[in-house]
Amino acid sequence: MKLAYVGLPCQLQALRKLQLFSSEIGQSWADSVALSIGLFCRENWAYTCLRALVEDDYGVKLSEVDKFDIKKGKMLLYRNGEVLQEIPLPETKPYVRVGCEVCLDFSAELADLSVGAVGSPPKYSTVIVRTRRGMELLRRAEREGYVEVKHISEVKPGTKLVLKLTKEKRDENLAEAERRGRAGYSARHIATMGEENLEKLVAEAKGKSFADLERDVIDAGMCVSCGACVAVADDRLEMVEERPRLKEGASGDVEEAYLACPRTSLPAMVMAERLFSGEGEVKSDSLGKYLDVFAVRATEKARLTRWQDGGAVTALLLCALKAGEIDGAMVAKRDENWRPIATLARSEEELRESGGTLYCYVTNLPLLKEVASR
Ligand SMILES: Cc1cc2nc3c(=O)[nH]c(=O)nc-3n(C[C@H](O)[C@H](O)[C@H](O)COP(=O)(O)OP(=O)(O)OC[C@H]3O[C@@H](n4cnc5c(N)ncnc54)[C@H](O)[C@@H]3O)c2cc1C
Repeated sequence: MKLAYVGLPCQLQALRKLQLFSSEIGQSWADSVALSIGLFCRENWAYTCLRALVEDDYGVKLSEVDKFDIKKGKMLLYRNGEVLQEIPLPETKPYVRVGCEVCLDFSAELADLSVGAVGSPPKYSTVIVRTRRGMELLRRAEREGYVEVKHISEVKPGTKLVLKLTKEKRDENLAEAERRGRAGYSARHIATMGEENLEKLVAEAKGKSFADLERDVIDAGMCVSCGACVAVADDRLEMVEERPRLKEGASGDVEEAYLACPRTSLPAMVMAERLFSGEGEVKSDSLGKYLDVFAVRATEKARLTRWQDGGAVTALLLCALKAGEIDGAMVAKRDENWRPIATLARSEEELRESGGTLYCYVTNLPLLKEVASR
């Protein structure tokens, strides 16, 4: 099965790490991802925290909200196109996942295509094309009339705002990682690692137990709830309230889970080198490695029913599905109370239903494994 995968920067890191160590882990299901789309991300909120913020602090029922957005320092809740509630962003900060506060990637540097709002005018999405695979899809979608594309230099504010947010996230979160380091919690994923360290990482994972994963990642507030550990440990681990847990009576020896976790170590340089080798003229700056940047919006042909910014993600996925480049896409949908649900969209209708942003984390790697292993 050829799948597309939509995820946050940390989820893309987990996916690439699973691909990098597939032979050591003895599982190659992550290779079924033929196209990855990363979403820009400053931070996100655990579902229970978002619900407490909106319903308890502001008295708004989540079932009454039909869109969330973040603009100009505010979280905005919409109903029928009108703003129902504004929440100043600083008031949401205590509810941000602690694992986000040590993440250094704003623009999903390991994706084929990275998509966000900043950089482009309203009703457009900014699309960073990182690989040839991504460029081919964007050009196909433009040719076939699914999207309208402008070079980022033709629009305002352009990449300078993306660069500013990238730098802000990096600086703030490096300072937080150092602060945690002084308190005795090491942010192990931040260490820079070359090819020569890969064997060391595999050796380090040998004999590790769930207690090690708990100490180094989960209790240290580093876990991103991607579910990579649960997926590779088969029936030994489970996610409970976004937290990996050892199943009752299961063996605590989970060295493949320790190796798969993007927060026990992150050989990001090696993953980037492998991803971008053979991609031709790759630019490299604070946005990571990429071929070019565009402002993109879906056209009438995409017939979108629900989307966040320019609808670029959904329109590109529709085009890839129609062209037979993918059999389905791992995306996120929600129930009527905004509880996020990882889902495989296999039809145009399912893709259209999955448009829009959920500002909560969606654990999706265990589902990716299940789908890819069918
Ligand atoms: C937690 C979070 C934080 C973000 N922070 C920023 C930011 O700081 N700055 C910025 O410019 N952009 C940010 N974005 C991205 C932005 O909100 C839009 O998702 C992006 O611009 C794509 O818009 P679109 O209209 O092209 O996508 P659409 O066509 O609406 O498609 C969006 C796709 O993303 C999937 N999706 C939605 N939520 C999630 C999720 N939680 N996990 C995995 N997949 C999901 C949907 O299923 C759908 O496939 C953030 C997104 C998320 C989820």
